[in-house]
Amino acid sequence: MKVKKICIIYTGGTIGMIHSPNGYVPGPESFRHNLESIPDLNHPDAPIWELVQFAPLLDSSDMTVQEWNKIGQAIADRYEDYDGFVILHGTDTMGYSASAVSFMLENLSKPVIFTGAQIPLCELRSDGKDNIINSVLIAASGEVHEVCVYFNGVLLRGCRSTKRSSDQLLAFDSPNFPHLAEAGISIQYNRNVLLPPAEGEFRFRPFKEVPVGVIKVFPGIQFELFESIMTDKLKGVVLETFGAGNIPSNGSYLLHIIEKAYRSGTIITVCSQCMQGTVTLGQYATSKALHDIGAVNGKDMTTEAALTKLYYLFSLELDKDAIKTLMSRNLRGELNE
Ligand code: ASP
Repeated sequence: MKVKKICIIYTGGTIGMIHSPNGYVPGPESFRHNLESIPDLNHPDAPIWELVQFAPLLDSSDMTVQEWNKIGQAIADRYEDYDGFVILHGTDTMGYSASAVSFMLENLSKPVIFTGAQIPLCELRSDGKDNIINSVLIAASGEVHEVCVYFNGVLLRGCRSTKRSSDQLLAFDSPNFPHLAEAGISIQYNRNVLLPPAEGEFRFRPFKEVPVGVIKVFPGIQFELFESIMTDKLKGVVLETFGAGNIPSNGSYLLHIIEKAYRSGTIITVCSQCMQGTVTLGQYATSKALHDIGAVNGKDMTTEAALTKLYYLFSLELDKDAIKTLMSRNLRGELNE
C-alpha cells in the first residue's frame, strides 16, 4: 500500500511555545527537533510527514485575515503533493481560523486538521504529542474530506467548533453538531455525518479585508453607543442575541439603528449567545422585530462561522440579496437548514 504523505503546517500557538520574561511566546528554533523526538511520528506505521514553519510564528490572538489567507494559500500551493494537512495553531482563535479555511477552500476532497495544545510540547504532560499524532493519523486515514479541529480525543467539524475551556485539555467542542470521530483504543469515525469528497475542482478563495463586526447584546445595553459604528461602512454584522434570537423589547433604539444600517446595506445576521440550539426569529415578540426589519436568521451557526462566512461571501463580490440568501443556507456543514 502506498505510504501516505502529510504536510504539517506550524503557525504558532502554545504547542510550540517557550517561557519568556513576558510569559509564553512562540519558540521557532527547536520545534522541528521537538516533533522529531515524538517516537510515534517516527513509527514504521506512521505516514511520512514534512514540516512547513511560518515566520513569524504567532500567538493566535494576533491572527488576522492575512494569516487565514496565508494558511489557505499554503494548503493550495501544496494541495496535489500531500494526502492531508495538519495545521498547528493556537487554541484561542482556532475556531475562527478553522471556519475561515473551511469557507475559503472550495470543493475540498482532502483532510485539513487543525490542532494545538494547552501545554507546550517542551513541558511535562504536554497534550500536544497526542493531539499531533492523532491528527496526523486522521489526516492519513482516507476517511475525512473536510476542515476539522482535533483536540483531546475528539474530531470536530471546523466550522462548527468553538473553544470551550481555557484550562481543560478538552478545549474544543461542537455543541450543535455530533463529533466526527472519537479516538479511544481505536479511532471511530462517525461516517453518517462526515462529508463526502467534493466533486468539483478544488479552488482557493482568499478573503478580502471586509469591514464586518460582532455585537453582543446584554441586559441594559445602551443602544445609542452603537450608532456610530452602524454606518453604511459596515458591510455585515453578527448580532449575538439572547436565546432563540431575542433582544430587549425596549430595544426600539437598537431597532432604529439596525433598521438604519440595514437600509444602508449592512447585512445583519442573528446568532445566539447559547452554546447549543438554534435561532428562531419570531418565536418570541422580542425577536419578531428583527425578522420584520430584514435581519438574516443565522440559525445554529457559531459566531465564528457566521463572521467568517460574511468575509467569504463579501470576498466573492456577490450582490447583497445573494449574500443574504446564502447566509442562511448550508455551504460547508456549518448550519442546519
Ligand atoms: N494564546 C495561545 C494561542 O492561541 C493559546 C493556545 O495556543 O492554547 O496562541
